[in-house]
Amino acid sequence: MSLGRYTTAAMTRLTVAIMVRSLKQALSAAAQAAERGADLVEFRIDEFASDLPAITALVDQSPLPSIITIRPTWEGGHYTGDDAGRIAAFEAACAGPRKPAYLDVELLAYQRSQPLRQAVDRLVDHPGQVNPTDTGLILSNHDFTTRPVDLYQRVEAMLAAPACRVMKVAWRARSLRDNVEAFQLIDQRHKPTIALCMGEEGLPSRVLARKFGGLLTYVALEEGAGTAPGQPTVGQMKSLYRWDALNADTRVYGVIGHPVGHSMSPAFHNAGFDAAGFNGIYLPLPIPPEYEHFKATVATWLDAKGLHFRGASVTIPHKQNLLRFVQERGGEVEPLSLRIGAANTLVVRDDGSLFACNTDYAAALDSVCDALHITRDGLRGQRIAVLGAGGAARAIVAGFAHYGATVVIYNRTHDKAIELAKEFNNAPTVTGGTARVVAAPMEKLCDSCCQVYINCTSVGMHPKIDQSPVPPEVAKGWAPGTVVFDTVYTPIETRLLREAKAAGCVTVPGIEMFVRQGADQSRRWTGMTPPIEALRKLVASRLGG
Ligand code: NAP
Repeated sequence: MSLGRYTTAAMTRLTVAIMVRSLKQALSAAAQAAERGADLVEFRIDEFASDLPAITALVDQSPLPSIITIRPTWEGGHYTGDDAGRIAAFEAACAGPRKPAYLDVELLAYQRSQPLRQAVDRLVDHPGQVNPTDTGLILSNHDFTTRPVDLYQRVEAMLAAPACRVMKVAWRARSLRDNVEAFQLIDQRHKPTIALCMGEEGLPSRVLARKFGGLLTYVALEEGAGTAPGQPTVGQMKSLYRWDALNADTRVYGVIGHPVGHSMSPAFHNAGFDAAGFNGIYLPLPIPPEYEHFKATVATWLDAKGLHFRGASVTIPHKQNLLRFVQERGGEVEPLSLRIGAANTLVVRDDGSLFACNTDYAAALDSVCDALHITRDGLRGQRIAVLGAGGAARAIVAGFAHYGATVVIYNRTHDKAIELAKEFNNAPTVTGGTARVVAAPMEKLCDSCCQVYINCTSVGMHPKIDQSPVPPEVAKGWAPGTVVFDTVYTPIETRLLREAKAAGCVTVPGIEMFVRQGADQSRRWTGMTPPIEALRKLVASRLGG
């Protein structure tokens, strides 16, 4: 088949999908969609297809151009009527003085039913049309379970139909990799295209439709009011995902983890990009735990033409996977991250080479140094107590030991503290000396005499906010001016911090580490200093502080 390439500079339309229950409800929703900055509305009249005068009025009175869709149950919708009912409803939609911008008809229905096809062809614009109209035909295909094996045959059929102005394919993403196929379909530009992936893994296809020049993307008016899984709201698209700032050159970042649905990082980084006027977008990027998933997904995203995937925050369970991946691809790894055995930041340099580092330990170091009014060099000779021997403790122990502090590790499971101390004791430090890291039993915490106490356990975290990793009598005995840092940030002020404050200690909340590690990532990606104070406020407000 010979296929011409269409070219258009038209912007991707933000389209609010509205399930129509009554004329009043649908017009009110369309008015709200217009107020919130949408460009189009899709009226889903699946359960409203029999009220023909109201359908004509709906199209006529809509404050925004409209798409009329009557999705049958066999394609994931709610319409249970026959073709005759659909034909009557489409005719009613086109009967008033204002016509719909588009009619959406399922490819399979259009292929199978000659009466429906002939009726629709009479209503839409196409080369053989004798009654001029602006209404275009969207031929669509949906799979709510997976990527259809015959996706390309379906696309070809849409391309071959002369009356089809727009082709639409939507399927449930099997992984983040499916988004890349959606981008490629849009990028072929044989016809205006809507290519979307459903579900949590499909979010990039919805947001980045604008970057690739998709005809439109669907959004919900409110949380829970969507017509397909994974639709963000119009408000989220506009403010959280920076819709109006997106274009073909936008650089793409995200938080890789499993799960990542509740991560604050997209709000944090997109606000930072906004404030800096940086042409970037940051998305949640869920990848299943195994290394093979990480490797395949990140490699596909790095290699995807026109995607400009330039970096990521990497969280549990992928911090070790990031190190391995960057090393396998011949990239550079910050030496201390290698020693820690975990990295949380991926930077893709302009020449395509990769760099991985760990901004967690650096954020913890700087939070403590600021509280002590010293630079990192001043850590030499300081005595730091670290409570915990898990992932967070490991990065923090390595960081403080590297800068010459003496680190004492206390942990519920003492053997783990001994193991961790062994690993970093005598490691080389920045000053050319060797690190001093020891383990001590929890019972000895009362006479530890440290200048700094850092909680790296999860004790005190929501919902068990009445707990503290340090017995109250020990906290009471701390000398005024002692620095107490709790890495836990839900709640912002933990019981440990409250008791330390009461004893006259200088307290550092975990939010400080979160904000600083994120700001450091942003600086590495954008080359600009993010507005730390504004970001601190944003995180505090999201945490209810
Ligand atoms: P992890 O690897 O699972 O380690 C958990 C640590 O907590 C272990 O040392 C464990 O001791 C100890 N622990 C758990 N329950 C305990 C209990 N009931 N009593 C005494 N000790 C207990 O977790 P992680 O990744 O290191 O994270 C630890 C904390 O760091 C989390 O609460 C997280 O909020 C915080 N964090 C904060 C930031 C930030 O940006 N502020 C960043 C990363 C992590 P055992 O060895 O005896 O099991």
